[in-house]
Amino acid sequence: MGGRLLKQWLERPLIDMVAINRRQQQVQALLDHFFERSELQERLTKVYDLERLAGRVAFGTVNGRDLIQLQTSLDQIPAVQDILLRFEDDSLTSLEKAIDPVSDIANLIRRAIEPEAPISVTEGNLILRGYNEKLDNYRDVMANSKQWLAELEASEREATGIHNLKIRYNKVFGYYIEVTKGQLANVPEGRYERKQTLTNAERFITPELKEKETLILEAEESATTLEYTLFQEIREQVKAQIERLQKLAAQIATLDVLQSFAVVAENQHYVRPVMHAGTHALDIKNGRHPVVEKVLGEQQYIPNDVVMDDNVDMLLITGPNMSGKSTYMRQLALIVVMAQIGSFVPADQADLPVFDQIFTRIGAADDLASGQSTFMVEMLEANAALSHATASSLILFDEIGRGTATYDGMALAQAIIEYLHDHVHAKTLFSTHYHELTGLETTLDKLQNVHVGAVEEHGNLVFLHKMLAGPADKSYGIHVAKLAGLPDDLLTRADSILSDLEGDQDVTTPHVAAVQVEETQPEDSQVEEETGQLDLFEPEPVQQNKSNPVLKKLSQFDLLTATPMDAMNLIYHLQKQLKK
Ligand code: ATP
Repeated sequence: MGGRLLKQWLERPLIDMVAINRRQQQVQALLDHFFERSELQERLTKVYDLERLAGRVAFGTVNGRDLIQLQTSLDQIPAVQDILLRFEDDSLTSLEKAIDPVSDIANLIRRAIEPEAPISVTEGNLILRGYNEKLDNYRDVMANSKQWLAELEASEREATGIHNLKIRYNKVFGYYIEVTKGQLANVPEGRYERKQTLTNAERFITPELKEKETLILEAEESATTLEYTLFQEIREQVKAQIERLQKLAAQIATLDVLQSFAVVAENQHYVRPVMHAGTHALDIKNGRHPVVEKVLGEQQYIPNDVVMDDNVDMLLITGPNMSGKSTYMRQLALIVVMAQIGSFVPADQADLPVFDQIFTRIGAADDLASGQSTFMVEMLEANAALSHATASSLILFDEIGRGTATYDGMALAQAIIEYLHDHVHAKTLFSTHYHELTGLETTLDKLQNVHVGAVEEHGNLVFLHKMLAGPADKSYGIHVAKLAGLPDDLLTRADSILSDLEGDQDVTTPHVAAVQVEETQPEDSQVEEETGQLDLFEPEPVQQNKSNPVLKKLSQFDLLTATPMDAMNLIYHLQKQLKK
């Protein structure tokens, strides 16, 4: 039940600060009282899946065993309530007060249902002795019938002196007295009523035997039917209380999730986040990714801070492949979700606002079946964030724009950053391999560069997994390719291509310049046509065209002393020259 509820909570985190704080306080109280929590856990382990049982009750498919499980579960509730009171914490006391133990149903089942009830509900052995008088009588008759018949047989043998006289049963005649042909003369006249003559025996009945027979048969046949009827009545009585059972199931599930939060907080050293209103600033000290941390072990995981005060809306994250950019982004999202479901969080300290929504564009995904390419999905997801996010939202964009040609991707990435910065104001983590974008820090005042550190030692790359201020210097993509085991020849060739490219262009040049140049240089589109894609590190078009007379004239034109008419004239001449 708890697992199911936890999934629901994860899918729908809270946005109401009061509700978040209430859950966190409940976790705090559970965390602070180890012994009470252990007792509570012990009780909860004895509670079956009340939700599923209530479901079966509602559908009318509940059997005797289910009812016993229901009763066992309900029997734990008064103890659970006692324990809750012992925490002496308002948040748990109010939970206790809201609990209805549904003890009337527990008592009904205790009185009525056999603890070892079979799965079948139509074959008897379901209802306890003492619950229904008629049923008890039937059972008495059945239990005593063999005894009674044995006694009758003995007394008739004595009365008649026929030692092989037998009382038997068949489906046609029911119970009868059988006397062999040889002993027939010893049967007193008028003692029995003749029923059937066989070759070597006679069969008789007596009114007394027939009376008992009716009782025995009725008992055998009717007891099972009566049990089923009684069971159906009980089932209906339980069903009538279904809402109370469902409410209780939800409360127990809640308690289960809360205590598991406390256990996880204790075992994994999570802290209670401080939630604040009025500002969207967030400050996480030594935050960790709860899953990666578990996989790597606490010693190996490098914790990282996330600090975004009111002056920072966006962190532009650069860093080598494999350095931990995605992990860092997801870590923040997980901490936020965990905080907003009421859990403690993997960090030394966390001061958080309540986010209204989280938008993510993480990892390559496609939806080929419905006609969406990888890049289309990327753009659709980006659009969802751009159009629905508010200043209270959290946006995670992991390498937006990578799914298309370099310049297209970079242009889109930059435009998206600017749009988010100027119009949306949501707290945003944007990771990218486009180093050119780091130049945006100078033009966008709420954007801050951060990067994940890595160092090169003897030609090998060492990931520090530590988030540092400022932009990254390199991508180290080839190093990661080496780690992945690509052929040596290929890597040597890639290294040489890279150094050629780097020799041609300063890779940290802000992209702003590159895009503007592209717009003013029609030659660039030819490059795109020839190669299919613009190369990021092509020689700068501005340098290529220094000898261009049009540009030469343009650069020599003295704007400060020129009149508007002079400018118009210049444009006219330049255009004419270009059209030649
Ligand atoms: P790429 O650019 O190639 O997508 P990335 O920078 O997004 O890479 P991640 O996928 O986040 O890198 O991380 C790569 C691996 O590094 C993770 O699988 C994890 O094992 C490890 N890692 C990430 N962050 C940390 C950390 N803080 N401490 C220890 N290990 C980490």
